[in-house]
Amino acid sequence: MRFPAGLYKSLVSCTIKNSLRGIKRFPLVLMLEPTHRCNLACAGCDRIRLNAETHAPDLSLDECIDAAVRSGAPVVTVTGGEPLLYGQLRALIAELLRLKRYVYLCTNGLLAGSLLRQLTPHPGLSLNFHFDGMEETHDRVTGQKGTFRTAIEAIKRAKEEGFRVCTNTSVYKYTGMEELEQLFDLLTRIGVDGILISPAFSYQSVKEEIFLSREEATERFRAMEYMFPRYPFMGTPMYIDFLQGKKRLLCTPWGNPTRNPLGWKSPCYLVTDTYYESFAELMAKTDWDTYESGRDSRCRDCMVHSGYEASVMRQAFSNPYELLKLLLWNLGGT
Ligand code: SF4
Repeated sequence: MRFPAGLYKSLVSCTIKNSLRGIKRFPLVLMLEPTHRCNLACAGCDRIRLNAETHAPDLSLDECIDAAVRSGAPVVTVTGGEPLLYGQLRALIAELLRLKRYVYLCTNGLLAGSLLRQLTPHPGLSLNFHFDGMEETHDRVTGQKGTFRTAIEAIKRAKEEGFRVCTNTSVYKYTGMEELEQLFDLLTRIGVDGILISPAFSYQSVKEEIFLSREEATERFRAMEYMFPRYPFMGTPMYIDFLQGKKRLLCTPWGNPTRNPLGWKSPCYLVTDTYYESFAELMAKTDWDTYESGRDSRCRDCMVHSGYEASVMRQAFSNPYELLKLLLWNLGGT
């Protein structure tokens, strides 16, 4: 099974509850960034640049929990920065699980010792490691030698201890097919439960020419067709069709709102026009129509899962046939 069955149950129940209340726009996944501090400075990441400019203090534990409760999202992705640098991480994860949230904890794996000391396996908890390629590429992107090996060893230990582990890979202009295949072979061999991929988002603050245009991304994901049956990819079939240019989707930016040390980020995880103090303000004041339609120029090349997997859910939950297809795929079908 690609995702825990209970996760789908929570998503369906969240959708039904909101529909019964007449609420059209609601989150499915909260992107929670308790800290923007990081122990790396990866090319392609804008949070480390943001942190250098703002030095915003970490969110308190109460602010994190309040964000989870107010958003009502059944899934919480705890990210950053490097969340393992957050002093209250253990208490945060425990409280989110107590609140019956499904938690994806993103990490670069450098502090694996601390991770495994602080946490115990739980059916609602997945560890999510980011990889940009094999050793040479990954260490170049992270700007530090040894980061690839450390992360791979961390995954092996986490699997031995019984954690559910997944990985996330962003595809850049320089990402080669052969290298992706080597990486996915390795990750599958060491037992990761799921692999997430998407084209990297072209942050305006990142000046290097490393991002794929939408046309280039479509071409790249079409060429990856043979890989999809081979590896435990977590992207839904409809999202993969979208990446391959076979399906048109509108974005659902409110599906994955972001709460971080600067506030509630509007409009989405990737683009920042402003921050709001409250979740209610974010939902009420963001001009969702503009972003949903992709009219903003910064949306032109965007195909990331945080914008479009929620669109897949939106379509599936409004069409029983699509929902059935999704559930069968989750059980291991194609
Ligand atoms: S298309 Fe991408 S950049 Fe635009 S609102 Fe959606 S997620 Fe954000």
